Amino acid sequence: MSIQENIVKLKKDLPENVTLIAVSKTKSNQDILEAYETGHRIFGENKVQEMLQKWEELPKDIQWHMIGHVQRNKVKYMAEFVTLIHGVDSLKLLREIDKQAKKHQRVIDCLLQIHIAKEDTKFGFDASELDQIINSGEIQHFKNVKICGLMGMATFTQNEVQIRGELKNLKALFDDIRNKLPEISILSMGMSSDYKIAIEEGSTMIRIGSSIFGSRDHH
Ligand SMILES: *Cc1c(COP(=O)(O)O)cnc(C)c1O
Repeated sequence: MSIQENIVKLKKDLPENVTLIAVSKTKSNQDILEAYETGHRIFGENKVQEMLQKWEELPKDIQWHMIGHVQRNKVKYMAEFVTLIHGVDSLKLLREIDKQAKKHQRVIDCLLQIHIAKEDTKFGFDASELDQIINSGEIQHFKNVKICGLMGMATFTQNEVQIRGELKNLKALFDDIRNKLPEISILSMGMSSDYKIAIEEGSTMIRIGSSIFGSRDHH
């Protein structure tokens, strides 16, 4: 199937409250424009430099989501235009986003990344660190950052029971912090391999790359 057919089909089956992020990392401008032609406007990248270049070259009504791990010294390159930063995993990073957003007189929407996988390689806060951050009161004082929700990635495995369990844990954390920060509304979980389970478990935002654009060279 073509990129266009893939994206149209994905969206047709999507519940109304779930937002699709088309993950275009490593893909060409031409591939992105193919998806764009269907009316899709939300794309996700995992490298700041690559996203910056695509933002410069492609239509300005595209909403760019940063879904990868962010180094603090790269925030300045995307502060002008990024729509949502999914992978916030430290207070230091939040402070930098706040500072850079202020220079552009913007409020940048952010998600806190939660470590739910068994693998050590995935970034993010655990439940007690999340509690600490929220109770510290600092995030409520940022003027140019808005915490909109949580993001997480399940372990890369075929074991559906494990994946579902990890996603359930993330949903439970989400419900818990929503009691403390009522403005929170986004739960970003689910990729090509597990988005159906993620939606069943309460995801409001799925990040889909290979099921739209085909497989990538490893990157
Ligand atoms: C690459 C990536 C995705 C998309 O992965 P696919 O398996 O191609 O759908 C989703 N989330 C993050 C954080 C990614 O880096």
